[in-house]
Amino acid sequence: MSKRYIGIDIGGTAVKIGYVTAEGELLATDSKRVDFDHYQTPIIVTVKNAVDQFLALEHITLAELSGFGISATGQIDTKEGVVSGTAGHIANWIQTPIAQIFKDSYHLPVSVVNDADCALMGECWLGAARGYRDVVMVTIGTGIGGGILTEGRLLTGVRGIAGELGHFPIRADGELCSCGNRGCYEKYASTTALVNMVRDRADELVPDISADHIDGQLIFNRVSQGDTALRSVVSEWITSITLGLVGLIHIFNPQLVLIGGGVSQQEELFIEPLREQILSYTMPGFCKDLIIKSAQLGNNAGLLGAVAYLKNLF
Ligand SMILES: [Zn+2]
Repeated sequence: MSKRYIGIDIGGTAVKIGYVTAEGELLATDSKRVDFDHYQTPIIVTVKNAVDQFLALEHITLAELSGFGISATGQIDTKEGVVSGTAGHIANWIQTPIAQIFKDSYHLPVSVVNDADCALMGECWLGAARGYRDVVMVTIGTGIGGGILTEGRLLTGVRGIAGELGHFPIRADGELCSCGNRGCYEKYASTTALVNMVRDRADELVPDISADHIDGQLIFNRVSQGDTALRSVVSEWITSITLGLVGLIHIFNPQLVLIGGGVSQQEELFIEPLREQILSYTMPGFCKDLIIKSAQLGNNAGLLGAVAYLKNLF
């Protein structure tokens, strides 16, 4: 039998677990909420219980496993497998020695990498970035996640936490961010930012909807039905996303800019205008051979990428 792995993607809301072959086939998956009591039960406790249950339920023995590839939210010290920081407020998470806990429990190889980096490696192994060696990936959701592949290697930095793309400031006196700084990229380029832009002008833009019911899906549905006022808000938001990406393109000279997150599935209303704006702001030399497209693997990218890293593919 070929080698088999457990891929684990620990997010702020849920943990996803997958039983993965060496070729990247997903044989079984499961997921569990981790935020059910506002993290009073530490995430790592929920994760360990979920993994034990998964192994029992799927009749997977440790003897048939070659290791655990773990993708985790926050700033992850990849060398030590420890959570070294977060930009938000997840209780009982910073300093969690994830790798040590798994090694002590299962006595198998373990790797721990930031979730946005794992999403990129998943896409490089099995998704939209297959065959590319110079890639900038941004995942647009509640916040902004990012990963950078340069000459086929994942950019990690000295502590393994490089690529925190949500938190480079783009406005000097901008909005206060959960990281403590002002004007961070994700305050203007995340889906949350778009929703807040619409909520701030809700009486005028969506008078028939209560503020709680405004989300990205609703906004894009209305734009697709021809709402021109909302279309111009979306366009302004796309400009903010563009400004950050143009900076990254000028720094890293990627061949591929990969866009992840739910909104990336909006090809006509999002990816196409984003591509147009990026090309209009980017210096011509950097546009040559530049491809801008959406990610492919969706929710499984993280756990598959974690296995790719464990397998030493990156
Ligand atoms: Zn920030």
